[in-house]
Amino acid sequence: MNVEPTGSDLFDTFGRPLRSLRVSVTDRCNLRCRYCMPEDEYTWLPRETLLSFEEINRLVEIFAEFGVDKVRLTGGEPLLRRDLPTLIRLLKQQAAIQDIALTTNGILLDEQAESLRDAGLHRITVSLDTLKPDRFKQLTKRDSFDRVLQGIAHVRTVGLTGLKIDTVAIKGFNDDELVELIEYGKSVEAEVRFIEYMDVGGANDWGMDKVFSQAEILETLRQAYGPIEPVRENSSAPASRFRLPDGTTFGIIPSTTAPFCATCDRSRLTADGMWYLCLYARQGLDLREPLRMNDESTVRARIRSGWQQRIDRGAEERKALESSSGRGQFIQIEELRQDPHLEMHARGG
Ligand code: SAM
Ligand code: SF4
Ligand code: SF4
Repeated sequence: MNVEPTGSDLFDTFGRPLRSLRVSVTDRCNLRCRYCMPEDEYTWLPRETLLSFEEINRLVEIFAEFGVDKVRLTGGEPLLRRDLPTLIRLLKQQAAIQDIALTTNGILLDEQAESLRDAGLHRITVSLDTLKPDRFKQLTKRDSFDRVLQGIAHVRTVGLTGLKIDTVAIKGFNDDELVELIEYGKSVEAEVRFIEYMDVGGANDWGMDKVFSQAEILETLRQAYGPIEPVRENSSAPASRFRLPDGTTFGIIPSTTAPFCATCDRSRLTADGMWYLCLYARQGLDLREPLRMNDESTVRARIRSGWQQRIDRGAEERKALESSSGRGQFIQIEELRQDPHLEMHARGG
């Protein structure tokens, strides 16, 4: 096997290292969140193109040679991928991978939390935008609210720690629930993170008027709880963390109003082996083709040159449009239909 020297010193054009890999294991989902999958029909990635667990594991091994030490499994809904714990077990055997996390909508956690724990998953993030069942249904087009709450409860029962709850804050939709969500987080020992609504992929209902900004989130919580202080930490994690007077911490991911591209060490692998250097990237690099041809030196060459040439600052560029041409929808529906990789549910949030 031709293992080239470790590339942990691989930097992009802005000096950003390659560290964190988000692996989408399926583009399918059992919800239809209106900010992510608002359409009735989707073009799915052809089954024969989907990477096997062995192929994903091999690609992660190669990425690890270049410095990747964190993997987040996502989708679509990753728990729809049959036998996901098998992939986690494979990844766990890689000494270089220090953190294996999962982002899920929580519906299938009730039945899978135990096997995920047994496989060695380190951390779970559950996406939950509302605590009102009718709003949940309105947002997701599915009646699965109770199952998500049961799933979250089950995570605690089986003893998985490090639970986070991610909430997309949408003005006029759930901005009146921030305090309830924080209180709910406390009750299930989860840190809540508020994500600013982003104009990514399928978010064709997006508008700046629907973004509940970091400043507004902080002001809402300050009014309810009193002074909020930032948690000082040295990290490339996307969330800024804050502390309430009672010590409760929470996070904000201000991708829209205060993008953090300058420290971004994240890239994304789709379920069919396309590698994207930014959430907003229009083009990806095909790693499946050389992998399936047993041409690992081409896989390595694509990763190395791709990252070394990386100029992506998608969220910052989107923000800059606000003062020039205006910031509308990122990708039109016709283009999304032609290339499903452009969808958030294909490249993993
Ligand atoms: N299905 C899983 C879930 O919902 O957790 C994993 C995939 S989902 C694409 C990952 C994350 O992206 C979720 O937390 C979701 O809320 C977030 N997301 C999707 N569309 C978004 C948008 N337009 N703005 C902000 N966050 C978004
Ligand atoms: Fe919602 Fe996640 Fe499914 Fe998108 S992939 S529709 S955010 S549950
Ligand atoms: Fe990273 Fe792109 Fe997101 Fe900026 S927009 S933080 S470069 S993934």
